[in-house]
Amino acid sequence: MTSGAPGIPDLEAEWARALKILAGAQEVCLACHVRPDADALGSMLAVTLALTSSGRPVSVVASFGDQPFEVPGILRFLPGVDLLRPPSAYPRRPAVMMTFDAASADRLGVLAPCAARADELIVLDHHASNVGFGSVRLVDPAAAATALLARDLIGRLGVPVSRDIALGLYAGLVTDTGSFKFATTPRIHELAAELLSTGIDPGEVAHELFDRAPFGYLELLSAVLGRATLEPQAAGGLGLVWAAVTRADRARGGMPLDAVEPVIDVLRRTDEAEVAVVLKEADNGDWLISTRSKGRVDVGRACKALGGGGHARAAGFTAGGSATAAMAILRERLGG
Ligand code: MN
Repeated sequence: MTSGAPGIPDLEAEWARALKILAGAQEVCLACHVRPDADALGSMLAVTLALTSSGRPVSVVASFGDQPFEVPGILRFLPGVDLLRPPSAYPRRPAVMMTFDAASADRLGVLAPCAARADELIVLDHHASNVGFGSVRLVDPAAAATALLARDLIGRLGVPVSRDIALGLYAGLVTDTGSFKFATTPRIHELAAELLSTGIDPGEVAHELFDRAPFGYLELLSAVLGRATLEPQAAGGLGLVWAAVTRADRARGGMPLDAVEPVIDVLRRTDEAEVAVVLKEADNGDWLISTRSKGRVDVGRACKALGGGGHARAAGFTAGGSATAAMAILRERLGG
């Protein structure tokens, strides 16, 4: 018996309820969080493929609540993306809805009202900051990725893991563990081995997810890193490094917002900083702020207090106003 998030004393009982609901469903509506990463979209597509290949007479609708609706470029190689539907084609009042990797209903964007109206809302998530929404809560903060919960679900549905299903799960696993650098246990490598045994090529997945970018990205990186600031006294004296990616930076190389996601992986190498921060200016002028910690500072708690969420070592929040103002409130939360 595993215990789940606070308020979920018995994850096993939640699994039983989820399976009962799914067994009786004629239509299952899936949604992952907005601006999906590989864990959110890969897990959802794996379950989409599992449900459609299960032999059950169930129709499956899968989407995410971004407007405009666009699959992030680096995730277009995932099997099943052709099955996605735009939010405009999503049932207004689903009988059974499932969410993936969303810590709160507002992370569903324009699909949040559908979740509020759903008769049953099954939540698959692994965020410690999960607020406890949904009628069935398959929330396990000990899981390194939502992909682990998706794998569990597919197994409990009795569907074999095909190569296409494995690819989505593997993409989630490799992303949320930072290519097996974080939260990596024997169980994680066992699951990776199982997924690789279907014939997927880990080198190809790594290439698609982490190792490619247009030349414009190098120009953007050069400009942004040139402005990176180290504050040795910040984060309680443990040090903070930050940089902002403006709309102008992105416009020069025609970079969409999701293309600048890896900038934080360069910043967080800084030896002198416990915490790394990248502020990304969205098309509407809001700042999407990503934070990373090496382990001594809980950035998840800080971001949650600022209206965002995430994990202790990787979290984010959104702020209006200027980048300077956003940094000021974050700096304060992190202890000066
Ligand atoms: Mn995740």
